[in-house]
Amino acid sequence: MIKSLPIPILGFAAYSGTGKTTLLEALLPKLTDAGLRIGMLKHAHHNFDVDKEGKDSYRLRKAGASQMLISSRNRFALMTETPESESEFDYLLSRFDTEKLDIILVEGCKNIAFPKIELHRVEVGKPWLYPNDNNIIAIATDEVVPDTSLPQMSINDLEAIAKFVVDYARASKQPSAAKTESAYCDTLSPAFLSVTQGQEKILSLVDTVTETQTCPVEQSYGRVLASDVQSPVNVPQYTNSAMDGYAIRGDDLDRAQYHVVAEVLAGHAYPHALEKGQAVKIMTGAPTPEFADTVVMREQATEIGDNVTFNSASIKRGQNVRQAGEDLPLGANVFNQGQRIASAEMGMIASLGFAECSVFRKLKVAVFSTGDEVQAPGSKQQENTIYDSNRFTIMGLLEKLGCDIIDFGILEDNEALMIDALEKAAEQADVVITSGGVSVGDADYIKLALDKLGQIDFWRINMRPGRPLAFGHISQKPFFGLPGNPVAVMVSFINFVEPALRKMQGEHNWTPLKVNAMASENLRSRQGRTEFSRGIYELDHSGQLTVRTTGKQGSGILRSMSEANCLIEISPSVDTVKVGESVTIIPLQGRI
Ligand code: AMP
Ligand code: MG
Repeated sequence: MIKSLPIPILGFAAYSGTGKTTLLEALLPKLTDAGLRIGMLKHAHHNFDVDKEGKDSYRLRKAGASQMLISSRNRFALMTETPESESEFDYLLSRFDTEKLDIILVEGCKNIAFPKIELHRVEVGKPWLYPNDNNIIAIATDEVVPDTSLPQMSINDLEAIAKFVVDYARASKQPSAAKTESAYCDTLSPAFLSVTQGQEKILSLVDTVTETQTCPVEQSYGRVLASDVQSPVNVPQYTNSAMDGYAIRGDDLDRAQYHVVAEVLAGHAYPHALEKGQAVKIMTGAPTPEFADTVVMREQATEIGDNVTFNSASIKRGQNVRQAGEDLPLGANVFNQGQRIASAEMGMIASLGFAECSVFRKLKVAVFSTGDEVQAPGSKQQENTIYDSNRFTIMGLLEKLGCDIIDFGILEDNEALMIDALEKAAEQADVVITSGGVSVGDADYIKLALDKLGQIDFWRINMRPGRPLAFGHISQKPFFGLPGNPVAVMVSFINFVEPALRKMQGEHNWTPLKVNAMASENLRSRQGRTEFSRGIYELDHSGQLTVRTTGKQGSGILRSMSEANCLIEISPSVDTVKVGESVTIIPLQGRI
């Protein structure tokens, strides 16, 4: 968002009653004196109106103008109606003409992530925001706050506040893209990435397999086409009837009755040209005889002996006839390389007469679990252990993507054995996936082994669940070290592994389906990270798509993934989604 804003932005956050507007009113002259050109953004209550009843602009708006721009010698104003929902913060920012401004100041918008000064007065009796909001970069107050390293100013010292704003504007002039990007990130840790950064990095580092195979159509479900498919025939091959009925000549429509000369079933043909005054009884899909370019449906016909009469109000020349090549002309491109084959594609390919298709070879994926406490299912539980679930979840996800799975079981906690096993896996498979032991500060053996193998980065992704992620290459084969927590494993797989595997399988530019739904409960998140809650979406009685969470969101509660039919994605700039607000959901059907 603020990534694309070429000038600095600074907010003033406070509870109502603190006197934000009064302070800003007194502050602005000092800022303009210092040479700053100021843009202001303020959030108002929903029935606010800038217009006055009875004014021309008001009347034109009420008459139906959804955007009303009114201009005079000294100013212009654009009023835009947004009856559906309030405009997004990023969009509002994009409305400013930043060429003519040095800084945008924001009053309000407490729960959106961007740098702010917190204003605080003791007499208002409200709690501090800064301990829970790392977007607060300074505080202006009428008391002294001992437990913070944030710059402090007196709320009554306008000169000091003005100096802070001017210094801030100068220091952050023309911020580079990279610098603002890290507004979401822990700048102390270069390994901190946003979800998108992680995805892009991984996608740039994996390649599509090169080998292709010929595959019988009946075995092609889930495979990815390695070449384009062109139609070698006209579909339909011949002009035919779209109805059960009677075929007649289009230049012979006005007769009282027609002589029925034959009955044509699908798979057969009437070998003569149709003459005027004649009709053939014809079935759906049967070829229309020469000149018989029009079909009247059976329900509109009465047969008396050898003759037929029609009781339809009007017959249009060419009706109820499918032309040869109408669906697909010979030579037309039907599918492109990179298309994943599902049921409809199997049928389409067969309908063109192909018994086989060219596909990319299957991916081989090696899977491990790690951790001293992890025990394989199928035997009595030992003390201090948990049964391995991650390996099985991952196997299910891989199955869904049509991968061949090589199960390496649970890795023994021994560095040399781990290095050996990881190298062996990379030799046999195209991709290696482990879970557990990749948290920063974790002393698991897997991490020591990966460190030795080199080429592995340990990232912290600004997301929950699924913060730790290791990615790199072992003997040129992509390696994913997923977190240990069972929900985090699935959420990380969905966000990082699946797009990469799809690319390796040959699929082009795959992106997951995302839609908006209305929150039917308040959803909490934390600014600065992407929150993936497990959600259940459904249509409510009025047909509105709504979503709620599955309940407790602990990243060890695998049951929540089983109950969910979607992930609710709350972007880093938002910390609370309130009941009735729109939120992005990622449906999971067909993916897990
Ligand atoms: P770690 O990232 O290794 O600290 O693991 C985080 C949590 O996930 C711990 O509670 C582990 O016990 C748990 N965990 C690790 N591996 C597995 C697994 N294969 N199946 C289920 N839980 C696991
Ligand atoms: Mg562990």
